[in-house]
Amino acid sequence: MTVVAQKLSAGKRLGREDGLALFATNDLLGLGRLADYANRLKNDDRVYYINNLHINYTNVCVNDCAFCAYRRKQEQADAFNMPVEQVLAKAAQLWHSKAVEFHIVGGCHPRAKLSYYCKMLSALKKAYPGAHLQAFTAVEIDNIARVSRVGVRETLTALRENGLGSLPGGGGEIFAPAVRGKICPEKISGKRYLAVMRQAHQLDIPTNVTMLFGHIESAADRVDHMLAIRELQDETGGFNSFIPLLFHPWNTRLEQLSKTGGIDVMKTMAAARLILDNINHIKAFWIMLGVALTQMALFFGADDVNGTVLEEKITHEAGADTPQHMPGEELERIIIDAGRTPVERDTLYNPLQR
Ligand code: SF4
Repeated sequence: MTVVAQKLSAGKRLGREDGLALFATNDLLGLGRLADYANRLKNDDRVYYINNLHINYTNVCVNDCAFCAYRRKQEQADAFNMPVEQVLAKAAQLWHSKAVEFHIVGGCHPRAKLSYYCKMLSALKKAYPGAHLQAFTAVEIDNIARVSRVGVRETLTALRENGLGSLPGGGGEIFAPAVRGKICPEKISGKRYLAVMRQAHQLDIPTNVTMLFGHIESAADRVDHMLAIRELQDETGGFNSFIPLLFHPWNTRLEQLSKTGGIDVMKTMAAARLILDNINHIKAFWIMLGVALTQMALFFGADDVNGTVLEEKITHEAGADTPQHMPGEELERIIIDAGRTPVERDTLYNPLQR
Protein backbone atom coordinates (compact mmCIF):
# COMPACT_ATOMS: atom_id res chain seq x y z
CA MET A 1 0.00 0.00 0.00
CA THR A 2 2.88 2.38 0.69
CA VAL A 3 4.17 1.89 -2.84
CA VAL A 4 0.68 2.49 -4.21
CA ALA A 5 0.26 5.66 -2.15
CA GLN A 6 3.64 6.93 -3.38
CA LYS A 7 2.70 6.22 -6.98
CA LEU A 8 -0.60 8.03 -6.61
CA SER A 9 0.95 11.08 -4.99
CA ALA A 10 3.49 11.20 -7.85
CA GLY A 11 0.56 11.16 -10.31
CA LYS A 12 1.51 7.74 -11.67
CA ARG A 13 -0.92 5.21 -13.03
CA LEU A 14 -1.54 1.99 -11.10
CA GLY A 15 -0.57 -1.34 -12.67
CA ARG A 16 -1.68 -4.92 -12.10
CA GLU A 17 0.53 -5.49 -9.05
CA ASP A 18 -0.75 -2.27 -7.49
CA GLY A 19 -4.32 -3.38 -8.06
CA LEU A 20 -3.62 -6.69 -6.35
CA ALA A 21 -2.08 -4.80 -3.41
CA LEU A 22 -5.32 -2.82 -3.02
CA PHE A 23 -7.27 -6.06 -2.59
CA ALA A 24 -4.64 -7.64 -0.32
CA THR A 25 -4.36 -4.80 2.17
CA ASN A 26 -5.90 -4.87 5.62
CA ASP A 27 -5.53 -1.11 5.93
CA LEU A 28 -9.12 -0.49 4.94
CA LEU A 29 -9.25 3.07 6.25
CA GLY A 30 -6.00 3.95 4.47
CA LEU A 31 -7.44 2.51 1.26
CA GLY A 32 -10.62 4.53 1.76
CA ARG A 33 -8.62 7.72 2.23
CA LEU A 34 -6.74 7.18 -1.06
CA ALA A 35 -9.94 6.45 -2.99
CA ASP A 36 -11.82 9.30 -1.36
CA TYR A 37 -9.03 11.72 -2.27
CA ALA A 38 -9.02 10.48 -5.89
CA ASN A 39 -12.80 10.86 -6.06
CA ARG A 40 -12.79 14.36 -4.58
CA LEU A 41 -10.28 15.51 -7.21
CA LYS A 42 -12.87 14.58 -9.85
CA ASN A 43 -16.18 15.21 -8.11
CA ASP A 44 -15.47 17.27 -4.99
CA ASP A 45 -18.22 16.39 -2.49
CA ARG A 46 -20.92 15.98 -5.14
CA VAL A 47 -22.89 12.73 -5.19
CA TYR A 48 -25.16 12.18 -8.16
CA TYR A 49 -28.54 10.55 -8.60
CA ILE A 50 -31.12 10.43 -11.38
CA ASN A 51 -34.89 10.18 -11.58
CA ASN A 52 -35.22 7.18 -13.87
CA LEU A 53 -37.65 4.39 -14.65
CA HIS A 54 -36.79 0.79 -15.45
CA ILE A 55 -38.60 -1.18 -18.11
CA ASN A 56 -37.74 -4.88 -18.48
CA TYR A 57 -39.46 -5.75 -21.76
CA THR A 58 -38.85 -9.53 -21.80
CA ASN A 59 -37.47 -12.23 -19.53
CA VAL A 60 -37.06 -14.71 -22.37
CA CYS A 61 -33.39 -15.31 -23.10
CA VAL A 62 -31.36 -17.65 -25.26
CA ASN A 63 -28.59 -17.61 -22.67
CA ASP A 64 -28.70 -19.39 -19.33
CA CYS A 65 -26.26 -17.61 -17.03
CA ALA A 66 -25.68 -19.43 -13.74
CA PHE A 67 -26.05 -16.21 -11.74
CA CYS A 68 -29.36 -15.19 -13.33
CA ALA A 69 -32.67 -15.59 -11.53
CA TYR A 70 -34.54 -13.52 -14.10
CA ARG A 71 -34.28 -15.52 -17.33
CA ARG A 72 -37.11 -17.78 -18.52
CA LYS A 73 -37.54 -20.14 -21.46
CA GLN A 74 -40.26 -19.12 -23.90
CA GLU A 75 -42.45 -22.06 -22.89
CA GLN A 76 -42.40 -21.32 -19.13
CA ALA A 77 -45.67 -20.09 -17.68
CA ASP A 78 -44.22 -16.88 -16.33
CA ALA A 79 -42.25 -15.97 -19.47
CA PHE A 80 -43.23 -12.59 -20.87
CA ASN A 81 -42.55 -10.57 -24.03
CA MET A 82 -44.01 -7.09 -24.10
CA PRO A 83 -45.38 -5.92 -27.44
CA VAL A 84 -44.60 -2.25 -28.11
CA GLU A 85 -48.10 -1.24 -26.93
CA GLN A 86 -47.45 -2.92 -23.59
CA VAL A 87 -44.08 -1.16 -23.25
CA LEU A 88 -45.92 2.12 -23.83
CA ALA A 89 -48.57 1.20 -21.28
CA LYS A 90 -45.85 0.34 -18.72
CA ALA A 91 -44.12 3.65 -19.47
CA ALA A 92 -47.38 5.54 -18.96
CA GLN A 93 -47.95 3.73 -15.67
CA LEU A 94 -44.47 4.62 -14.36
CA TRP A 95 -43.92 8.09 -15.83
CA HIS A 96 -43.94 11.08 -13.48
CA SER A 97 -43.08 14.74 -13.79
CA LYS A 98 -39.50 14.40 -12.46
CA ALA A 99 -38.49 11.42 -14.62
CA VAL A 100 -35.75 12.09 -17.18
CA GLU A 101 -34.62 8.63 -18.29
CA PHE A 102 -36.01 5.26 -19.31
CA HIS A 103 -33.58 2.42 -18.56
CA ILE A 104 -34.64 -0.43 -20.82
CA VAL A 105 -33.09 -3.91 -20.64
CA GLY A 106 -34.25 -7.48 -21.12
CA GLY A 107 -33.20 -10.98 -22.08
CA CYS A 108 -31.64 -11.98 -25.41
CA HIS A 109 -34.81 -12.91 -27.26
CA PRO A 110 -34.42 -15.67 -29.85
CA ARG A 111 -36.69 -14.13 -32.49
CA ALA A 112 -37.36 -10.40 -31.96
CA LYS A 113 -35.89 -8.43 -34.84
CA LEU A 114 -34.29 -5.02 -35.03
CA SER A 115 -37.57 -3.50 -36.28
CA TYR A 116 -39.27 -4.38 -32.95
CA TYR A 117 -36.58 -2.58 -30.94
CA CYS A 118 -36.66 0.42 -33.29
CA LYS A 119 -40.46 0.63 -32.98
CA MET A 120 -40.19 0.45 -29.21
CA LEU A 121 -37.71 3.33 -29.04
CA SER A 122 -39.46 5.54 -31.59
CA ALA A 123 -42.83 5.06 -29.85
CA LEU A 124 -41.31 5.99 -26.49
CA LYS A 125 -39.51 8.98 -27.99
CA LYS A 126 -42.73 10.19 -29.61
CA ALA A 127 -44.66 9.90 -26.35
CA TYR A 128 -41.84 11.28 -24.15
CA PRO A 129 -39.68 13.52 -26.39
CA GLY A 130 -37.69 14.90 -23.45
CA ALA A 131 -36.77 11.51 -21.99
CA HIS A 132 -33.34 9.97 -22.53
CA LEU A 133 -33.54 6.36 -23.68
CA GLN A 134 -30.75 4.31 -22.16
CA ALA A 135 -31.43 0.94 -23.69
CA PHE A 136 -30.04 -2.53 -24.45
CA THR A 137 -26.77 -3.86 -23.06
CA ALA A 138 -23.88 -4.74 -25.35
CA VAL A 139 -25.02 -8.38 -24.99
CA GLU A 140 -28.53 -7.51 -26.20
CA ILE A 141 -27.13 -5.39 -29.06
CA ASP A 142 -25.02 -8.32 -30.23
CA ASN A 143 -28.06 -10.60 -30.03
CA ILE A 144 -30.32 -8.17 -31.92
CA ALA A 145 -27.69 -7.91 -34.66
CA ARG A 146 -27.33 -11.68 -34.87
CA VAL A 147 -31.07 -12.44 -34.91
CA SER A 148 -31.66 -9.70 -37.49
CA ARG A 149 -28.66 -10.75 -39.59
CA VAL A 150 -27.20 -7.26 -39.71
CA GLY A 151 -23.96 -5.85 -38.35
CA VAL A 152 -23.53 -4.36 -34.88
CA ARG A 153 -22.76 -0.97 -36.41
CA GLU A 154 -25.96 -1.00 -38.49
CA THR A 155 -27.93 -2.13 -35.46
CA LEU A 156 -26.58 0.70 -33.31
CA THR A 157 -27.10 3.25 -36.08
CA ALA A 158 -30.73 2.19 -36.62
CA LEU A 159 -31.46 2.26 -32.89
CA ARG A 160 -29.91 5.68 -32.55
CA GLU A 161 -32.00 7.00 -35.45
CA ASN A 162 -35.04 5.83 -33.51
CA GLY A 163 -34.13 7.51 -30.25
CA LEU A 164 -31.40 5.51 -28.52
CA GLY A 165 -29.39 7.87 -26.31
CA SER A 166 -26.91 5.58 -24.60
CA LEU A 167 -26.22 1.98 -23.64
CA PRO A 168 -26.36 0.70 -20.07
CA GLY A 169 -23.31 -1.23 -18.91
CA GLY A 170 -24.87 -4.63 -18.17
CA GLY A 171 -23.34 -7.86 -19.42
CA GLY A 172 -19.73 -7.12 -18.50
CA GLU A 173 -19.81 -9.74 -15.71
CA ILE A 174 -16.16 -10.87 -15.47
CA PHE A 175 -14.08 -10.86 -18.64
CA ALA A 176 -11.68 -13.67 -17.54
CA PRO A 177 -12.54 -16.50 -19.98
CA ALA A 178 -12.19 -19.30 -17.38
CA VAL A 179 -14.68 -17.66 -15.01
CA ARG A 180 -16.98 -16.48 -17.78
CA GLY A 181 -17.05 -20.02 -19.15
CA LYS A 182 -18.40 -21.22 -15.81
CA ILE A 183 -20.90 -18.49 -14.94
CA CYS A 184 -22.21 -17.51 -18.38
CA PRO A 185 -20.87 -19.89 -21.03
CA GLU A 186 -23.33 -18.89 -23.78
CA LYS A 187 -22.86 -15.16 -23.31
CA ILE A 188 -20.60 -13.21 -25.68
CA SER A 189 -16.99 -13.07 -24.55
CA GLY A 190 -15.50 -10.15 -22.69
CA LYS A 191 -13.62 -9.22 -25.86
CA ARG A 192 -16.83 -9.17 -27.87
CA TYR A 193 -18.58 -7.09 -25.17
CA LEU A 194 -15.78 -4.52 -25.36
CA ALA A 195 -15.86 -4.61 -29.18
CA VAL A 196 -19.58 -3.72 -29.14
CA MET A 197 -18.83 -0.92 -26.67
CA ARG A 198 -16.05 0.33 -28.97
CA GLN A 199 -18.44 0.50 -31.90
CA ALA A 200 -21.00 2.40 -29.80
CA HIS A 201 -18.36 4.91 -28.72
CA GLN A 202 -17.16 5.33 -32.30
CA LEU A 203 -20.74 6.29 -33.20
CA ASP A 204 -20.76 8.80 -30.31
CA ILE A 205 -23.15 6.67 -28.29
CA PRO A 206 -21.96 6.88 -24.68
CA THR A 207 -22.20 3.85 -22.41
CA ASN A 208 -21.71 2.69 -18.86
CA VAL A 209 -19.63 -0.38 -18.06
CA THR A 210 -20.05 -3.02 -15.35
CA MET A 211 -18.37 -5.81 -13.43
CA LEU A 212 -20.28 -8.52 -11.56
CA PHE A 213 -18.28 -9.39 -8.46
CA GLY A 214 -18.53 -11.56 -5.37
CA HIS A 215 -19.03 -15.00 -6.94
CA ILE A 216 -16.20 -17.32 -8.08
CA GLU A 217 -13.82 -14.73 -9.49
CA SER A 218 -10.45 -13.85 -7.94
CA ALA A 219 -9.05 -10.44 -7.06
CA ALA A 220 -6.74 -10.80 -10.08
CA ASP A 221 -9.79 -11.32 -12.32
CA ARG A 222 -11.29 -8.11 -11.00
CA VAL A 223 -8.07 -6.15 -11.55
CA ASP A 224 -7.67 -7.51 -15.09
CA HIS A 225 -11.30 -6.63 -15.82
CA MET A 226 -10.73 -3.04 -14.72
CA LEU A 227 -7.47 -2.75 -16.68
CA ALA A 228 -9.22 -3.91 -19.89
CA ILE A 229 -11.88 -1.26 -19.37
CA ARG A 230 -9.23 1.40 -18.72
CA GLU A 231 -7.48 0.48 -21.95
CA LEU A 232 -10.64 0.92 -24.03
CA GLN A 233 -11.46 4.16 -22.25
CA ASP A 234 -8.01 5.49 -23.19
CA GLU A 235 -8.92 4.76 -26.79
CA THR A 236 -12.53 6.02 -26.95
CA GLY A 237 -13.39 8.04 -23.83
CA GLY A 238 -16.96 6.73 -24.19
CA PHE A 239 -17.59 5.30 -20.71
CA ASN A 240 -19.56 7.63 -18.44
CA SER A 241 -19.43 5.46 -15.37
CA PHE A 242 -18.20 2.17 -13.96
CA ILE A 243 -20.70 0.10 -11.97
CA PRO A 244 -19.41 -2.71 -9.73
CA LEU A 245 -22.46 -4.95 -9.37
CA LEU A 246 -22.63 -7.03 -6.21
CA PHE A 247 -23.67 -10.62 -6.95
CA HIS A 248 -26.89 -11.81 -5.27
CA PRO A 249 -26.95 -15.61 -5.09
CA TRP A 250 -30.55 -16.42 -4.14
CA ASN A 251 -32.69 -18.25 -6.71
CA THR A 252 -29.64 -18.77 -8.93
CA ARG A 253 -27.54 -21.85 -9.68
CA LEU A 254 -24.78 -20.30 -7.56
CA GLU A 255 -27.04 -20.25 -4.52
CA GLN A 256 -24.46 -22.26 -2.55
CA LEU A 257 -22.20 -19.19 -2.50
CA SER A 258 -22.67 -16.75 0.32
CA LYS A 259 -23.00 -13.07 -0.47
CA THR A 260 -19.68 -11.29 -0.21
CA GLY A 261 -19.21 -8.98 2.77
CA GLY A 262 -18.96 -5.24 3.25
CA ILE A 263 -15.16 -5.13 3.41
CA ASP A 264 -14.84 -6.82 0.04
CA VAL A 265 -17.41 -4.40 -1.40
CA MET A 266 -15.45 -1.40 -0.08
CA LYS A 267 -12.14 -2.74 -1.42
CA THR A 268 -13.75 -3.20 -4.85
CA MET A 269 -15.16 0.33 -4.86
CA ALA A 270 -11.82 1.80 -3.85
CA ALA A 271 -9.85 -0.28 -6.36
CA ALA A 272 -12.23 0.82 -9.10
CA ARG A 273 -11.79 4.48 -8.21
CA LEU A 274 -8.00 4.18 -8.09
CA ILE A 275 -7.44 1.98 -11.16
CA LEU A 276 -10.02 3.61 -13.44
CA ASP A 277 -8.38 7.01 -13.40
CA ASN A 278 -9.93 7.88 -16.79
CA ILE A 279 -13.58 7.26 -15.84
CA ASN A 280 -15.25 10.11 -13.99
CA HIS A 281 -17.93 8.29 -12.08
CA ILE A 282 -18.09 5.15 -9.92
CA LYS A 283 -21.60 4.02 -9.03
CA ALA A 284 -22.72 2.51 -5.77
CA PHE A 285 -26.04 1.03 -6.91
CA TRP A 286 -28.31 1.13 -3.84
CA ILE A 287 -30.57 -1.61 -5.26
CA MET A 288 -27.73 -4.11 -4.88
CA LEU A 289 -25.84 -2.67 -1.93
CA GLY A 290 -28.67 -1.52 0.31
CA VAL A 291 -28.61 1.86 2.03
CA ALA A 292 -25.87 1.17 4.60
CA LEU A 293 -23.23 -0.09 2.14
CA THR A 294 -24.18 2.60 -0.37
CA GLN A 295 -23.43 5.29 2.22
CA MET A 296 -20.16 3.60 3.16
CA ALA A 297 -19.16 3.38 -0.52
CA LEU A 298 -19.28 7.19 -0.68
CA PHE A 299 -16.19 7.11 1.59
CA PHE A 300 -14.47 4.59 -0.71
CA GLY A 301 -14.51 6.44 -4.02
CA ALA A 302 -18.11 6.20 -5.23
CA ASP A 303 -19.84 9.41 -6.31
CA ASP A 304 -23.17 8.17 -7.69
CA VAL A 305 -25.98 6.22 -6.02
CA ASN A 306 -27.72 5.60 -9.37
CA GLY A 307 -31.41 6.30 -9.65
CA THR A 308 -34.87 6.29 -8.20
CA VAL A 309 -35.41 3.22 -10.45
CA LEU A 310 -39.14 2.43 -10.12
CA GLU A 311 -39.79 -1.24 -10.68
CA GLU A 312 -36.56 -3.21 -10.81
CA LYS A 313 -37.04 -6.93 -11.52
CA ILE A 314 -33.66 -8.48 -12.31
CA THR A 315 -31.85 -8.09 -8.97
CA HIS A 316 -35.02 -8.63 -6.96
CA GLU A 317 -35.59 -12.03 -8.53
CA ALA A 318 -32.14 -12.92 -7.16
CA GLY A 319 -33.25 -11.98 -3.68
CA ALA A 320 -32.36 -8.30 -3.25
CA ASP A 321 -34.24 -7.11 -0.18
CA THR A 322 -34.12 -3.45 -1.15
CA PRO A 323 -37.32 -1.68 -2.27
CA GLN A 324 -38.21 -1.45 -5.98
CA HIS A 325 -38.13 2.32 -5.85
CA MET A 326 -36.50 5.08 -3.81
CA PRO A 327 -37.89 8.61 -4.12
CA GLY A 328 -35.38 11.35 -5.01
CA GLU A 329 -35.93 12.99 -1.61
CA GLU A 330 -34.89 9.75 0.11
CA LEU A 331 -31.77 9.39 -2.05
CA GLU A 332 -30.90 13.01 -1.15
CA ARG A 333 -31.30 12.22 2.53
CA ILE A 334 -28.97 9.22 2.22
CA ILE A 335 -26.36 11.42 0.53
CA ILE A 336 -26.73 14.33 2.99
CA ASP A 337 -26.48 11.95 5.96
CA ALA A 338 -23.11 10.85 4.53
CA GLY A 339 -21.97 14.50 4.61
CA ARG A 340 -22.08 14.97 0.82
CA THR A 341 -23.93 17.28 -1.53
CA PRO A 342 -26.66 15.61 -3.60
CA VAL A 343 -26.80 16.58 -7.26
CA GLU A 344 -29.71 15.47 -9.38
CA ARG A 345 -28.39 14.72 -12.86
CA ASP A 346 -29.50 13.67 -16.29
CA THR A 347 -28.11 10.54 -17.96
CA LEU A 348 -25.02 12.38 -19.19
CA TYR A 349 -24.19 13.88 -15.79
CA ASN A 350 -25.51 17.38 -16.51
CA PRO A 351 -26.80 18.77 -13.17
CA LEU A 352 -30.54 19.52 -13.13
CA GLN A 353 -32.02 22.54 -11.44
CA ARG A 354 -35.60 22.03 -10.27
FE1 SF4 B 1 -30.03 -13.86 -20.21
FE2 SF4 B 1 -28.99 -11.69 -19.11
FE3 SF4 B 1 -30.03 -13.62 -17.57
FE4 SF4 B 1 -27.74 -14.08 -18.86
S1 SF4 B 1 -28.06 -12.51 -17.25
S2 SF4 B 1 -29.51 -15.47 -18.74
S3 SF4 B 1 -28.05 -12.88 -20.75
S4 SF4 B 1 -31.16 -12.34 -18.99
